Amino acid sequence: MDFLSLPGMSEYIETTRLLYRHGWAEGSGGNISMVLDGVPEDAPVKAVFPLSPDTPAPEGLSLVITRSGSYMKSIAADPEADLCVLRIRGGGAELLWGLKKGGRPSSELSSHLLGHEARLAADPKHRVLMHTHATHLTAMTAVHPLDERSFTRTLWQQCSECMIFFPDGAGVLPWMPCGTDMIGRATAEKLREFRMVIWAQHGVFGAGSSPFEALGLIEIADKAAELYLLTAQLCVINSIPDEGLRRLAEVYGVTPREGWLDI
Ligand SMILES: [Zn+2]
Repeated sequence: MDFLSLPGMSEYIETTRLLYRHGWAEGSGGNISMVLDGVPEDAPVKAVFPLSPDTPAPEGLSLVITRSGSYMKSIAADPEADLCVLRIRGGGAELLWGLKKGGRPSSELSSHLLGHEARLAADPKHRVLMHTHATHLTAMTAVHPLDERSFTRTLWQQCSECMIFFPDGAGVLPWMPCGTDMIGRATAEKLREFRMVIWAQHGVFGAGSSPFEALGLIEIADKAAELYLLTAQLCVINSIPDEGLRRLAEVYGVTPREGWLDI
């Protein structure tokens, strides 16, 4: 079985490279997982990683995820060392491919499983969850109120693409320690209603039907955050009014989150 030829795998690997080039994956920061279609039922199992009994792992789900401690900058050079394909079965994660030099799946595996469960319930086309340290979105959490309606409205007002690509808005979580069940569960709860969740003083989680879609969502939001930061200390005399945001939504056939526009 050639796991690298599965649908979405080449795009997934290209995305790891792009995250590093964006400057959003310093050190071993960030992780990506993608639900896989087409993994054979009889693929041999190389190892099993137990899952916490609290993790409501979707039985039979196959996914690819980064290795714990892997560097985005080097995944593309040797994917079989830095990625793993897992199948969830019987309360454990069966290793079907990857980790050829040893290691474990990302420590955020439980958060990703919870997140996939939440997104798949909302959208059957969902496949990808991506955590990255998007610079401008993270900087914005230092200087902007964190209530998600206000935070999203500021992003929407910066440039036209935001309303078109995330009319559902962005969830925002206050700072909390990463790598904990608490942040994993809080993120999964937000993912039930948002495709993007911003972690204050840390980064962002984005979801999509493909790696490029999830990446594109974060890129657009981060560009808007950059525009905000470039102008926040200036005398801003123009931004997109609610009337304009409503018009954009009509033109592109999207529905703004209920109650988040004032008109
Ligand atoms: Zn992180």
